[in-house]
Amino acid sequence: MNWERNVLRVTPYTAGEQPKDPEIIKLNTNENPYPPAPGVVQVLEEMKADPAKMRLYPDMDSTLLVEALAAREGVKPSQVFVGVGSDDVISMAFMTFFRGEDKILFPDITYSFYSVWADVHRIPFETVPLTEDFRIRPEDYIPACTGRPNGGVIFPNPNAPTGIALPLSDVERIIAGNPDSVVIVDEAYIDFGGESAMCLLPKYENLLVVRTFSKSRSLAGMRIGYAVGNEKLISYLQDVKFSFNSYTMNLAAQRVGLASVQDEDYFRTCTGRISATRDRFAAALTERGFEVLPSSANFVFARHPQFTGDDLLAALRARKVLVRHFKAPRIRDFLRITIGTDEQMDAVLRVLDEIIG
Ligand code: PMP
Repeated sequence: MNWERNVLRVTPYTAGEQPKDPEIIKLNTNENPYPPAPGVVQVLEEMKADPAKMRLYPDMDSTLLVEALAAREGVKPSQVFVGVGSDDVISMAFMTFFRGEDKILFPDITYSFYSVWADVHRIPFETVPLTEDFRIRPEDYIPACTGRPNGGVIFPNPNAPTGIALPLSDVERIIAGNPDSVVIVDEAYIDFGGESAMCLLPKYENLLVVRTFSKSRSLAGMRIGYAVGNEKLISYLQDVKFSFNSYTMNLAAQRVGLASVQDEDYFRTCTGRISATRDRFAAALTERGFEVLPSSANFVFARHPQFTGDDLLAALRARKVLVRHFKAPRIRDFLRITIGTDEQMDAVLRVLDEIIG
């Protein structure tokens, strides 16, 4: 009875809760408070009118979605890879590009899925401490500065859960300083602020930029993400993906994703609105004595000197406001609060006034 010795054992990622109570103001998983583009609903209507289409397998190359994304980003379709949310894209990228023996590097305070993927794919990793003020220091990721090679680099820009963006010149230093490794820039939140690394693609073969439809395009439920890189990088990624499952992108996701990409105006209106709400909300928190890290994302990361993170989390929860809290020592007094509508954020401020007194 020793079958367990052949089992792959991992500690899974803990995602934010999806509560059942509709009265809860849900600001814990960085979803978008606005509906997706109107064209998305139209696509669903069309699908409803012709259910027989679902008999067939979807286009395994997601051609129309890939072409629309390529046109938007100003690259060739062969430079675009799509997947079931950026989680799927990044996991595939870990599997494909991080095969070396040297440790891959990512910040100590960052998206907590990175260490889980490293574990499940058996990739050695090292976390690099952010500075005192929660910033990424480019030298820490450059072999010529650290004196040690690495097996790859990944970081989100803006970083999560801090929301702090790394200037493009620093992003470029990390990419330029790692000609022997793939550098993945996870731009899950780039549409709310910060400078994208997309413009560096013509210069660097070792750069992979990853994006998601979950935040800025209000489509977390449809699970759509993509990566852009040079053709060679993307073809390696495709080979691995097609060795697992050819049909990851279902018909609805492909069509809905396309409709979203086709409505650039709606996209800009929504992201602009959220960034404006964020700046207003951050200022209101500061007025109330919070320390708020400078956010370029659709969330803020804040702490109040008189409350522990646990206490604030519980007090908010008791008043039906759900936010995210992490237990790592340096950030345990911070809360990550997703930016909702202006009305939702005003309600949160009223609740905070009750709690803080
Ligand atoms: N990267 C970062 C930094 C994130 O915060 C998230 C959201 N949890 C993701 C990637 C994954 O998003 P999705 O799989 O919904 O595209």
